[in-house]
Amino acid sequence: MCKRCEMLPVWEFTNKRKLCASCFSRYFEKKFLNTVRKFKLFSACDKVQVKCESEDKLSEIKRQTLSFVLEKMRAKLNIALVKRNATKKASVDSVDNIASCLLDCFVNKRLRNMKRCGPIRKEKIGKRWITIVKPFYLFLDAEILLYAKIKKIVKPNILQQWPFRPGESFMLSGLREVGESKNKMRKKLLLFLDELEKKHPEVKHAIVQGYLSVYVT
Ligand SMILES: [Zn+2]
Repeated sequence: MCKRCEMLPVWEFTNKRKLCASCFSRYFEKKFLNTVRKFKLFSACDKVQVKCESEDKLSEIKRQTLSFVLEKMRAKLNIALVKRNATKKASVDSVDNIASCLLDCFVNKRLRNMKRCGPIRKEKIGKRWITIVKPFYLFLDAEILLYAKIKKIVKPNILQQWPFRPGESFMLSGLREVGESKNKMRKKLLLFLDELEKKHPEVKHAIVQGYLSVYVT
């Protein structure tokens, strides 16, 4: 049971603390604001465009969720959401993506790519440099999707078939399959991480935190 309100839990942390749907939403939104502030992702009056390169189902749900949360937090963060002429782009990268990206850098000896794995990066688009920020940097895909389910951001039938337990393999659920066949190695690493996370909860977080402590000040 959720300790605070004696409701049925929807999420359990590795320390066995459980949250009901409304407590989980509150936790999610608070963590979102904390992440944005911790990494100083936005400045006042930033014009933000949500960016998503992949077209698989999972990324699409994450894109809709990020738009939803940013819209909700817009006034608090003092930013505007725009479709073009953005001062910053927000990507849907989560702990899952970043941990697998870091492993990929090691395994395939692409260490130079590691600097792209921080919470903020610059990318040259055409002639100008644009800042890409990652507000989901400390979130698991599992948390983002559970929030999307609670807030009914996506049609419930899309997520119904799908159990939400920390450590659940999202790869095996089929959502992550689409559109990722181009990058077989990354896919294998994601699967490996999902498996590892089952036995060693928080391993994805540990990889990202380790990187942060070395590379990002
Ligand atoms: Zn509760």
